[in-house]
Amino acid sequence: TDIKELLLSRIRDVADYPEPGVMFKDITPLLADPAAFTALTDALAEIAEAAGATKIVGLEARGFILGAPVAVRAGLGFIPVRKAGKLPGATLGQAYDLEYGSAEIEVHAEDLTADDRVLVIDDVLATGGTAEASLQLIRRAGAEVAGLAVLMELGFLSGRARLEPALRGAPLEAL
Ligand code: 5GP
Repeated sequence: TDIKELLLSRIRDVADYPEPGVMFKDITPLLADPAAFTALTDALAEIAEAAGATKIVGLEARGFILGAPVAVRAGLGFIPVRKAGKLPGATLGQAYDLEYGSAEIEVHAEDLTADDRVLVIDDVLATGGTAEASLQLIRRAGAEVAGLAVLMELGFLSGRARLEPALRGAPLEAL
């Protein structure tokens, strides 16, 4: 479709970043193009509305850049899920495995309630580890998962298959 081609044309491949052998998908050209950034924001806001979301969760750091304008456009609250140690209030944390070692993400516990249906937004779905941890965090906070929406899915890493149990039938949309 037109939007898919527009978005793809604004994503830059950077070889050997952040380490040799990795082809990094750089979204900064898309952010710098107002037509592309607006089209992306509008498409994600439509997904939020179709999913019946009451809140947007953005995953640090590029999920903040994409999620915040979507929340404003859709008239929803925005909640940052941050790397451990960055949020000042009472937090819930979720650890997850990386290729080497582990990482932890956190959310302010009071930001999510049992009345919330949450759409998680991030830029790139790779292995799915980050997204999976965020879904667990949202449910542990007592809220419902409305879905997961990303700009780009790296299909060869099979994140979608990994996420299937954690999604529990909620949609995963990759633009
Ligand atoms: P995962 O947990 O799915 O393996 O990795 C996804 C996280 O790493 C996302 O938060 C995403 O921002 C980041 N990430 C991994 N690979 C890329 C990439 O090629 N480009 C960008 N922009 N982010 C990536």
